Amino acid sequence: MPDIVQLLPENIANQIAAGEVIQRPASAVKELLENAVDAGATEIKLFVNDAGKALIQVIDNGQGMSETDARMCFERHATSKIKNIEDLFHIKTMGFRGEALASIAGVAQVELKTKKAEDITGTYIEIENSVVKTQQPIAVQQGTSISMKNLFFNVPARRNFLKSNTSELRHIVDEFIRVSMAFPEIFFSFTSNGQQVFHLEKGTLKQRIVQILGNNYAAKLVSVQEETDYMNIYGFVGKPDTAKKTRGDQYLFVNNRFIKSAYLNHAVMNAFSDMIAKDSFPMYALFIDLDPSRLDINVHPTKQEIKFEDEKIIYAFVQSAVKHALAQFSVTPTLDFDLDISIQQSDAVSKPFTDDKRSAAASSSLYKTFTQKHQAHFIENKSDLQHWDSELSVVSGQLSVDGEKEFTSQGDLDKNNKTEYTPESLQKKEDKKPTNNNFIQLHNSFIIAENRNGFIAIHQQNAHERILYERFLNAIKGKPIATQRSLFPATIELAPGDTVLLNELLDDLKLLGYLVEPFGNNTFVIQGSPADVVQGNEKATLEKMLDQYKHFSNDLKFNKREKLLRSMAWQQSVKAGTSLDQKEMESLINDLFECETPNCTPNGKPSYLEFKKEELDKIFGR
Ligand code: ADP
Ligand code: MG
Repeated sequence: MPDIVQLLPENIANQIAAGEVIQRPASAVKELLENAVDAGATEIKLFVNDAGKALIQVIDNGQGMSETDARMCFERHATSKIKNIEDLFHIKTMGFRGEALASIAGVAQVELKTKKAEDITGTYIEIENSVVKTQQPIAVQQGTSISMKNLFFNVPARRNFLKSNTSELRHIVDEFIRVSMAFPEIFFSFTSNGQQVFHLEKGTLKQRIVQILGNNYAAKLVSVQEETDYMNIYGFVGKPDTAKKTRGDQYLFVNNRFIKSAYLNHAVMNAFSDMIAKDSFPMYALFIDLDPSRLDINVHPTKQEIKFEDEKIIYAFVQSAVKHALAQFSVTPTLDFDLDISIQQSDAVSKPFTDDKRSAAASSSLYKTFTQKHQAHFIENKSDLQHWDSELSVVSGQLSVDGEKEFTSQGDLDKNNKTEYTPESLQKKEDKKPTNNNFIQLHNSFIIAENRNGFIAIHQQNAHERILYERFLNAIKGKPIATQRSLFPATIELAPGDTVLLNELLDDLKLLGYLVEPFGNNTFVIQGSPADVVQGNEKATLEKMLDQYKHFSNDLKFNKREKLLRSMAWQQSVKAGTSLDQKEMESLINDLFECETPNCTPNGKPSYLEFKKEELDKIFGR
């Protein structure tokens, strides 16, 4: 038997490894932006075409690379950021593993142009499939430009795995926001398909937050700032009245790196308890700074979880800092900021980082991950976090909102959901129809109507959602809703992220009767609205619709249109609590029974219930 073990060719090894670092266009965006930040740039520009599938380019004015470095940077484990294992405990840069560029060069067609301030000429390198195609001197400005074209061109399986442009662009926007928010002293811009989406001038953190999240927050931010020897926290939280029903605007950074931590999120939410509704989410952008040696730093480049030396302290600290900040602006009695005495006395706070600890750290998974070559992508087991799971479950109701419950599709409704309703047959529909027009509205929410078998109780909002949903569905399928031009077109200004969203929806909105035109600078003009909807509320309607739409953003079950239709139907439906006159009830009920599926909302809630005469007779003992 011949020997069969052989080394993988470098380009294949790179492609495999790239899978860990570059999962989608947004991961490449993150890596390139972070490299630009690490290079000390004061201006960073991002360009993408086709949601990054065709092109991702980052241009910075940072320190640039020499000819040799330019060639070296594409090698795996080539980095200028650490030299020895000690450096790992003092990392201040965003990257340090030297894998991003090697990965990118393995799965895209890459062009690098770079020049250092002191060099006369720069270097141009073209690399594809990890093979250098061209290298030559070039005249360029100081800094670096990296463009990657046709991501995953050589890994079709991965390319096919990419989501729709809307979804990939959303991920890119998220990454862009996470990096740009952490560095307000750097100018950032973001251009998608030739249209500038973000233009973030240098400024304060507060200005940056408002630039990114929208002007609504301008007068609504409460500053958080506490310093101790152990750690500092600074940033802003939104005043309680800005809490939203979608968990969108929540950002936590540790040493300027965006992280996700359900545990610390809980700490912030806790600080807000009693000040906001249970199912709403406060805005926050909080930055925790602490000695890097006190963290088991995120070794996996795309990993956003982080391990602290003592996370209980951090929890208490975050919670008190936010409470303190909130107490200062509100009228609630001043809350104690002082750290719990047991925490003050705990080792982590009172004792310096000893040699003991250092060696303990060296035997931690961090060290191992780095030293054991083929463990490079070891991801810690979730069970490490078990001790706070129980605490978290107390509020799991609050933490898992995002409208999932409300909006399960008919196809896979939660089996335990009592309100599960499936479409009924056409014949049945005829059976259920009211037989006369004597309608009674109860509690401004329900309508009682007599039918062949007994009577039905209609939920007016659910019924209306069904009617609108089917009307919108027909509109999209080719019977556009007539638009009425506005005499005084309203303008609407959005946060840049929402601008991207709305841009994607404009064509479909037109079919639904809304004529909305981009006006640049995150502004849109509403030129017309559906002819059958009273004018004057277009702006609020669109804003609320977008908010609702974002509810679905992470729900892959629904495509863009389905989300839009459902959001619109919900938004325009006559709400429970609205008094209806006879005519209105009549047309609502007529419209409902014109529907193909009158008996439930698009989300599977019943729109009416039938009470049969024979059953009622039985109940009354007749
Ligand atoms: P890492 O960031 O982990 O060091 P990368 O693969 O992202 O690894 O980059 C490799 C090296 O290339 C970096 O350490 C840095 O020296 C150099 N480099 C990458 N991008 C830039 C840039 N935009 N400007 C200057 N140098 C860069
Ligand atoms: Mg990097």
